[in-house]
Amino acid sequence: MTQVAATVSALLGMPPPAQAKGEPIEDIVSDLKGARRVALLALDAFGTYAWGLWRGEMPFLDSLHTRRSITLRSVMPSITPVNFATMVTGTDLEGHRIETFDHDFACETLFDVVRRAGGQSAGVGLTGFTGTKLLGRHADIDGDGGEPISDDADDGVADKIIEIVEAYQPEFLIAQLGKTDDVFHREGPSSPAVVPMLRETDVRMKKLVEYLQARGYGIVVLADHGQHDIEGAPEGQMKGTHGTDSPKDVLVPCTWIS
Ligand SMILES: [Zn+2]
Repeated sequence: MTQVAATVSALLGMPPPAQAKGEPIEDIVSDLKGARRVALLALDAFGTYAWGLWRGEMPFLDSLHTRRSITLRSVMPSITPVNFATMVTGTDLEGHRIETFDHDFACETLFDVVRRAGGQSAGVGLTGFTGTKLLGRHADIDGDGGEPISDDADDGVADKIIEIVEAYQPEFLIAQLGKTDDVFHREGPSSPAVVPMLRETDVRMKKLVEYLQARGYGIVVLADHGQHDIEGAPEGQMKGTHGTDSPKDVLVPCTWIS
């Protein structure tokens, strides 16, 4: 995860954030070279564990990963604000000090780098989620995709991304698609009950990727962390969780589209 920020900087032809620890991911840089803009689309909590179980239900994402696929490792703790903060700084909790989405960055971010170069950035997510509360708050454009009221609420995030790109064409855009995390918590990542949401996610991602691709964006699809099932969870209680250093929580798939 610490390599993402330097990768975005390299694609934009800008220096990495000052405290970035990770080096650029060469495969992504060479494939997406020449992209004038970069979009990071993060499917919250969609780690390699759930991906391995359900990729057969997601023909679009499966086709992307068949071409280009790597595994990233979340930083600890494997929770949302910490890892989104790592994506935009290249450093871990010790460096960025973002433990909750209400915190302020203790170091330079991609938003700062892009701003200094005269460009614009956007952070997008559902109301009350890290995408807006942390990323949107620090980016030039705060994209609120609406309340997380239903399992297809990320349609609002996709619509907001399109609206922002139409209006501003920001050089850097980062989006949190948050319903994967919500539904995995509720059902458990291995439950077949997550499949309808994942099928909708696949359709949404196809629309979004094709839209961004047509507008000159280099696109990276990743996740902030994974989830594991809570064994023997009582009825009506949370069936999936994350935060540990187990492979199910820290390994996430990543693909990219030029
Ligand atoms: Zn998350």
